[in-house]
Amino acid sequence: MSVHRLARRAANLPTSFPAPHFPSELEADVIPFDSGFAAPQLLPDLTDFAIAALNAHREETLQYSPTHGQPELRGWLSDLMNEDGCALTPDHLLIVNGAKHGLELICRLLLDEGDTVVVTAPTYFTAIPIFRSFGVDFIEVGQDAHGIDVAALDSLLDARAQQGLAAPKLIYNVADFHNPTGATMSLERRQALIALADARGITIVEDTPYRRVRFEGETVPSLKALDRNGTVLHVGTFSKLVAPGLRIGWVAADPEIIARLIRLKSDGGSSPLVQRIIYEFGRSPAFAAHIERVQAVYRERRDRIVEAVRREIPAAEIAVPEGGYYVWLTLPSHIDGDVVTALAAEAKVNLIAGSTFFATPGAGNARAPRNHIRLSYSYATPEQIDEGVRRLAGAYRSVAG
Ligand code: PMP
Repeated sequence: MSVHRLARRAANLPTSFPAPHFPSELEADVIPFDSGFAAPQLLPDLTDFAIAALNAHREETLQYSPTHGQPELRGWLSDLMNEDGCALTPDHLLIVNGAKHGLELICRLLLDEGDTVVVTAPTYFTAIPIFRSFGVDFIEVGQDAHGIDVAALDSLLDARAQQGLAAPKLIYNVADFHNPTGATMSLERRQALIALADARGITIVEDTPYRRVRFEGETVPSLKALDRNGTVLHVGTFSKLVAPGLRIGWVAADPEIIARLIRLKSDGGSSPLVQRIIYEFGRSPAFAAHIERVQAVYRERRDRIVEAVRREIPAAEIAVPEGGYYVWLTLPSHIDGDVVTALAAEAKVNLIAGSTFFATPGAGNARAPRNHIRLSYSYATPEQIDEGVRRLAGAYRSVAG
């Protein structure tokens, strides 16, 4: 079909199908450090919950469901978030088909073509095309071990205002175990970010897929828990804590925002069967036991990959996360992460080059250094982690000399 028939947002999209989807479809000896999939042994056995849901709730699970989600699930989720420092009612919650769906709906609510969006440099790469499809420009802000650099953002926004440019519409951030850096924002930074957003009238979108995948250190209050003025739209998901195939997440925001989002959600309601299964699983003793296993397995893998990188690639700086799925490596400044990634792929280790995580990659962007790579430790077994890092070190040495 001629591109002239397509909408602007679709004209430049690839016409090829994506690469093999499941890590298990790869050749047996390929090591998937690129995959954000859950460890297969951590996918919970939901059989009994599914059977019980279909037996006891046939009509509820097989009819259309309310667009905003099942009342009991929304009630349980508001309790969970209130235990985590929020003050929500079920009317603050909208059930969506995973975090990405929540993000897309929020974009539909807030963004017009030509608006600007603040993202960290680097940021979660799958969010970039979602924002881009709404025809927005990006403002990229650096970050350190304490999260997004709020002071730098403040000066940047002052400079833009002096040039007569409009304030951005939203700030997108992953405050807990950032993807890709693994960094968690400090309390002070969180407070400063909210103060900045409040003062300038900018909405914060807090994306929290890893929040409960913490295996070390103290939980820091979520941005939503610190929000007093309805500035924060919080996006949650069961993908990383329970199972990504469930495709259930949520948005937490003021009820008048939720009411508008309901009108924009045109999917006929998220699967009522899956919502019922999650609700029954979440209320059962199996849920807490599951979370403990998740934390233990990922902690072991995090330790393993950190040790392996320190042993095999001592020149790499590794940010050690207290939770989540990823480690972010900073290679010496003259090393190109894209080249290392390509050579690693030849050695059958898949990973993601750091350049993928910048909204405007390339030589023109001083905020997009090329000497990074992201390794995921969620799917690879401890043995694969050792072998994968050994092969990666070979690829690194062939570039570094
Ligand atoms: N946000 C971030 C920061 C993520 O890392 C991921 C998963 N890789 C998601 C959202 C996707 O979540 P979901 O599966 O719920 O769409």
